[in-house]
Amino acid sequence: MSYVDEVFDMVVAKNPAQPEFHQAVKEVLESLRVVIEANEEVYRKDALLERIVTPERQIIFRVPWVDDKGQVQVNNGFRVQYNSAIGPYKGGLRLHPSVNLGIIKFLGFEQIFKNSLTGLPIGGGKGGSDFDPKGKSDREVMAFCQSFITELYKYIGADTDVPAGDIGTGAREIGYMYGQYKRLTGLYEGVLTGKGLSYGGSLARKEATGYGLLYLTAEMLKCNGMDIAGKTVAVSGAGNVAIYAIQKAQQLGAKVVTCSDSNGWIYDSEGIDVALLQEVKEVKRARLTEYAAARPSAEYHEGKGVWTVKCDVALPCATQNELLLDDAKALVANGCKAVAEGANMPTTMDATEYLQANGVLFCPGKAANAGGVATSALEMSQNSERLSWTFEEVDSKLQTIMVNIFHNLDNAAKKYGMEGNYVAGANIAGFLKVAEAMTAQGVV
Ligand code: NDP
Repeated sequence: MSYVDEVFDMVVAKNPAQPEFHQAVKEVLESLRVVIEANEEVYRKDALLERIVTPERQIIFRVPWVDDKGQVQVNNGFRVQYNSAIGPYKGGLRLHPSVNLGIIKFLGFEQIFKNSLTGLPIGGGKGGSDFDPKGKSDREVMAFCQSFITELYKYIGADTDVPAGDIGTGAREIGYMYGQYKRLTGLYEGVLTGKGLSYGGSLARKEATGYGLLYLTAEMLKCNGMDIAGKTVAVSGAGNVAIYAIQKAQQLGAKVVTCSDSNGWIYDSEGIDVALLQEVKEVKRARLTEYAAARPSAEYHEGKGVWTVKCDVALPCATQNELLLDDAKALVANGCKAVAEGANMPTTMDATEYLQANGVLFCPGKAANAGGVATSALEMSQNSERLSWTFEEVDSKLQTIMVNIFHNLDNAAKKYGMEGNYVAGANIAGFLKVAEAMTAQGVV
């Protein structure tokens, strides 16, 4: 049996009932096959693959907190410190009822390669909880965040592990967590990113993932003889990534006609009104029905359906496994030319393969959404320097990083005889740097 298959079987056997984690490992290992087989003897002897698929450390803890009725609630807390070969662990904290260890491991594993692709010195980690901030009062969210950090603060620090936001963790949650970390440790340090601007946050961090997605998508289209200007774009999600992806797409001259949340989706024939979407989602924390009620050109539909709309470019920005094989078929039938993932692993493997086989340009999340973590790393640099850069400085660095990421993965795909396969290119480029650092550092 090949080394890749052996390691994948081991992952499934040792990590039962973690399908998202298996899926992420399979996708990465499959596309690394050609590189692994070329170096099989060395990697096998060093157990390099066994080490890279196994987290350095997994922390699981109880998070008790008191709700507004005086009732004690208990959630599970997680932090997976996956790989520190190229820098301190870096990755977000997801707060969503679907969170479990397998989800955090899939995200942490992906994060290793994503962080490597940014070209910045950051290792891979991820964390979160099955706590649902939706429908909770600010006081309840604060009680949860303080309890979460009261345990997690022991394991994180500006030079060891720097968490950030993710689904359910926005500026409010990061603020409460930062306050509790500072109170417990007495340290005013860059331990979390995505902070508010008044206490060490970076300009353009909020926009970074969505903007970065568009910078990369525009470069991918350009290198394939197309222009983002004038394109019709379908976006899923209506959170941090989706909102700023829509805003940048419109600034670049595209028309975005959809967005969605976990209840339903919007088709807006005039193009999404970003200011209204921000008001509904960022200020009121309301459902998309409110967007439709305030906008005559918008139709609201219950359930899923964004990918049935005719578009040139599709940007899944909600969550994992939200673009399935049937969705891929609908996109191809409607003439879609490019898909770039704003979310982590939103496209299933069979859907990805279908899109690629039908000539759709496909860029995976670990490259396309790396602008968020890259700008988090820029926030870390500013915190270390005790300086704040301007919006334009950060945005221009972000643009350079995203364009470099695209060329890095494009070149890796070409070098290994898989031109145009950006999934393989991203995995190979991300992996090689980490593998070299792990090899240089010996058996640790
Ligand atoms: P938010 O919580 O701000 O928004 C998530 C959006 O997706 C919401 O519209 C939410 O709808 C929807 N959504 C979440 N879960 C589901 C679900 N199970 N089914 C359908 N819709 C769902 O998160 P972000 O925008 O920050 O993150 C979105 C994706 O991007 C995630 O995969 C995340 O890991 C990834 N990502 C985020 C980065 C960042 O900087 N924020 C960086 C890189 C990747 P509702 O409001 O109804 O829950």
